[in-house]
Amino acid sequence: MSHSMSLNITDNHAHINPIKGAKGIKAVGDFVNSGGTMLMLVNLMTWHYGIHVPTLKSFTRMYQIHLDLVRRINQEYAIKAYAVIGPHPSELSNLIRKGFSYSSARRLMIRAIDEACRIASGNDLIIAIGEVGRPHYRVSKEEWELANELLGYALERAAEIGKAVQIHMETPTESSLNEIVHIAEKHGMPISKIVIHHATPDIKLYRQYGLWPSIVAKEDNIIKALRNSSEFLVETDYLDDPQRPGAVMSLSSLPRKIRRLYERGILSRSIINKICRELPSAIYGIAP
Ligand SMILES: [Zn+2]
Repeated sequence: MSHSMSLNITDNHAHINPIKGAKGIKAVGDFVNSGGTMLMLVNLMTWHYGIHVPTLKSFTRMYQIHLDLVRRINQEYAIKAYAVIGPHPSELSNLIRKGFSYSSARRLMIRAIDEACRIASGNDLIIAIGEVGRPHYRVSKEEWELANELLGYALERAAEIGKAVQIHMETPTESSLNEIVHIAEKHGMPISKIVIHHATPDIKLYRQYGLWPSIVAKEDNIIKALRNSSEFLVETDYLDDPQRPGAVMSLSSLPRKIRRLYERGILSRSIINKICRELPSAIYGIAP
């Protein structure tokens, strides 16, 4: 019973690219063999799937490719997989780079958010809209303001359909998180359903607002986070990118790290259960 292979181990944010990925769906096998039990998979950007013409159809196709992948994982592997769908903030940067005016880029991004919400509404396989938010790199003032407006819109639409949101943003500070909370409140999004992806291990920074940090599951991050709280989620942000194989953690590394920390007595079974099962159930409204 105390064996580490019987733990619940969830990766709260990872990407698998069934079209052009380094490993594609096979990466799930590595995750399962290392003891992983639940996987929250987020779609990448349209061009990662070989979709280069930005229209509404491009987004619809991306969401469908992603949902097909998540359905297949649930059929073929003994784990639970869920989908997170939405337009990444770099889709906006891409449109602007391609010569779209701010107003036509805005229009298409709004339709891409609407489309994600239309597909997600009433679909229990889709637990959240994401990753939406704002760029972590420097952009023009116009793009920054537009990204914030689109974030507000995504939060409003996600709230309407009762889904959580995974947010992508610059490295958070007190004031940037304050802004996110203001945007959410203005748009009727419950703070308790907002997950900040790629969060730093300063859990209190997020929890003081009621936001949920999802931290990259590196050993030192987890140890640092545990110093003040166990109210966080863990993720690899695995990219499945053949061009950047070592850019992030592999899918199998998260279960291995969690199990090692358990065996060393740093993570207890009940804390792992909270991080990997109870919190995701509460935030995303899925069966425990
Ligand atoms: Zn990501």
